Amino acid sequence: MKLCLAGSPLVSPEKSCIDMIGSFIDLHSHSTASDGTLAPAHVVQLAHERGLSALALTDHDTVAGIGEAAEEARRLNIDFVPGIEISAEYPHPGTLHLLGYGVDPDSLALRDLTQTLLEGRDNRNPRIIAKLKDLGVHISMDEVEAQAGGNVIGRPHIAAILMRKGYVNSIKQAFDKYLAPGGLAYFDKERLSPKRAVEMIRESGGVPVLAHPVQLRTDNGAQLERVVKDLIDLGLQGLEVIHSDHDAKLVAKFTALADRFGLLKTGGSDFHGTNKKDIDLGVANGRRIPREFYDELVAHLAVCGEKPPPLSS
Ligand code: AMP
Ligand code: MN
Ligand code: MN
Ligand code: MN
Repeated sequence: MKLCLAGSPLVSPEKSCIDMIGSFIDLHSHSTASDGTLAPAHVVQLAHERGLSALALTDHDTVAGIGEAAEEARRLNIDFVPGIEISAEYPHPGTLHLLGYGVDPDSLALRDLTQTLLEGRDNRNPRIIAKLKDLGVHISMDEVEAQAGGNVIGRPHIAAILMRKGYVNSIKQAFDKYLAPGGLAYFDKERLSPKRAVEMIRESGGVPVLAHPVQLRTDNGAQLERVVKDLIDLGLQGLEVIHSDHDAKLVAKFTALADRFGLLKTGGSDFHGTNKKDIDLGVANGRRIPREFYDELVAHLAVCGEKPPPLSS
């Protein structure tokens, strides 16, 4: 066990406690390293413009944007948490996403994890393209790769090309018609089991947090509790209580659940730039995210993290 909060690289020593009172944060954001439209440094610059005091970058399946974002955060004096978001096996129509906070981008476990996740994408994406071709919709893997820019190639990149080439009028239509479950060219990607996903985040030095629990689509409170309890038994440590998909009632419900199970509470907008036009950084369904979520997460990381997460890659 380490008690190293004072020296934690996640806390800017220049910031006094007074500065932090009443300030707001965002612990869930995506950049061009996955399916966001702003470069990692630009996400940090936007956080600065919005007056946020802390930010986590949580790209899908990759930490490729962490180094650039961390450097910009240092320059702008914003506290930064390295993060990742991964999706685990879960019965349709729900989805189970885990956020890993404070992961060490240089750890072997994290390299293993991201490689496994990217292989799942590399196996799926050509199948989508082939199916689209059968349907008379002609886009190439080269176009998709160019659209993605990095190595996390996802359905939003395919959707953007479908739109650009006039096959659909919007990203939403691309998903509804072709890419979402039930769509004409839908293919699932291989996922990790929740157990393996939680283990891999912890082995990477991170804190596993259940993202947007509303997306589990559980039928009732008892089922939700069972899923969360099972995840806690696997090593889950937090619940994302504030999110763009959570209205006031859901925020209250998930807050009560987190408190009852002694879980960390986190919150974020799930910002994706113009890939999700309705979502602004630092605002989740009209709600801001309190600084105390960051402070408690960092205190937990300092005490319980496998090792203190470095800021830069
Ligand atoms: P992938 O990771 O390639 O399976 O694509 C999933 C990503 O697509 C999610 O992270 C969202 O950003 C986006 N997405 C999923 N469903 C929709 C939808 N119905 N409309 C718009 N974007 C979506
Ligand atoms: Mn996404
Ligand atoms: Mn998600
Ligand atoms: Mn997300």
